Amino acid sequence: MKRLGLFGSTGSIGENVLNVVRHNPDAFEIVCLTAHHNVQKLADQALEFRPQSVCICAEEHAGYLKEKLSGTSIRITHGHTGLVDLAREESFDMMVGAIVGSAGLLPTIEAIKAGKNIALANKETLVVAGEIVNHLLEKHKVDLIPIDSEHSALFQCLVGESSDSVKRLILTASGGPFLHTPVEEFETLTVESALKHPNWNMGAKITVDSATMMNKGLEVIEAHWLFRMPSEKIDIIIHPQSIIHSMVEFVDGSIKSQMGLPDMKLPIQYALTYPGRIQNGYESVDFTKYNRLDFYQPDTKKFPCLRLAYDALKAMGTMPAVLNAANEMAVSKFLKREIGFNDIPRWIEKAMNAHSIHPDPSLDDVLEADRWAREFCSGEIKT
Ligand code: NAD
Ligand code: MG
Repeated sequence: MKRLGLFGSTGSIGENVLNVVRHNPDAFEIVCLTAHHNVQKLADQALEFRPQSVCICAEEHAGYLKEKLSGTSIRITHGHTGLVDLAREESFDMMVGAIVGSAGLLPTIEAIKAGKNIALANKETLVVAGEIVNHLLEKHKVDLIPIDSEHSALFQCLVGESSDSVKRLILTASGGPFLHTPVEEFETLTVESALKHPNWNMGAKITVDSATMMNKGLEVIEAHWLFRMPSEKIDIIIHPQSIIHSMVEFVDGSIKSQMGLPDMKLPIQYALTYPGRIQNGYESVDFTKYNRLDFYQPDTKKFPCLRLAYDALKAMGTMPAVLNAANEMAVSKFLKREIGFNDIPRWIEKAMNAHSIHPDPSLDDVLEADRWAREFCSGEIKT
């Protein structure tokens, strides 16, 4: 029985993790659940899975949660401090990192320091502080298994291979909802159209990231830290069907890919059962239905976020943290209809140009860069 601490249980990944646990009640036990605002869903999940503790980050909902969970022995904590304490103190074997954004960084770091293995969906943690996280993983002898479908694919292709034999990693990208939209229309794209992803049903932030293709940019940085590959060895290819989840080309020219239907339950289950695999009743790929797989070069002029992410990775230091924080701010303003679609890369580029990079940052330096970029972007919106 693997004991799981599920951080971000009310989101799209969180709910899929709980679906995997429901399918395998003898394999997994939920030890804690956490949410930001959605207290109703958190309470329902807690009543179903009976964890030892829950954390509601928005403190104003703690009273409601107490009421809903009265008569149970579930411990209730709240706030960001409650979240970080839970990551450190609660007795789970594996943290499932399903929080969105850099808010997931500190809980993940505390869980690693406490010697807990990590199944990570929260890519922003690696974008912001990949080097620091890798150092801690080594120091505390902790495994981190990716949940992000492309990285799960790369991870699976790399099992049993040495890094010397890798020629390049090939990340596949669906291209998002605007793959075929003329760039002239980008200035007036609506929130509704950006939230219509062709293949995946995900949280709002990552869905907008897929529309700007920043998601793929963040994934290049994520792959860099997970597999310790330089950016020159990480390529992106557009593959609109999302059946090939990514590929590895080896020095002999041989290419391995991992395939499956676009369903996050598969990479989630793999991260939870690695190095083993278990059966499930999920639908498998019918190649007569998917009898055509297409591939295109990504267009970095049309999707400048891709270029910005590669630039941030080359600049290194605190630049990826600034890229990420400016993106989080811009996407949140776009979702509130306060800025347009093209303002997202504009803001990010402005923040990156204005940032004085710290070449070898500590955790505090990274947090400070994140704070600085958010403040910079708030100033931008005022002007
Ligand atoms: P979501 O918005 O659906 O859910 C986010 C979760 O994080 C919720 O439980 C929410 O309560 C919690 N949360 C949000 N802000 C928080 C804060 N400030 N403090 C504490 N908790 C907070 O997001 P999602 O789509 O499930 O994505 C989660 C992460 O997984 C993201 O990093 C995303 O990039 C990554 N990811 C998602 C998918 C997917 O299919 N949804 C695929 C690959 C990777
Ligand atoms: Mg992905």
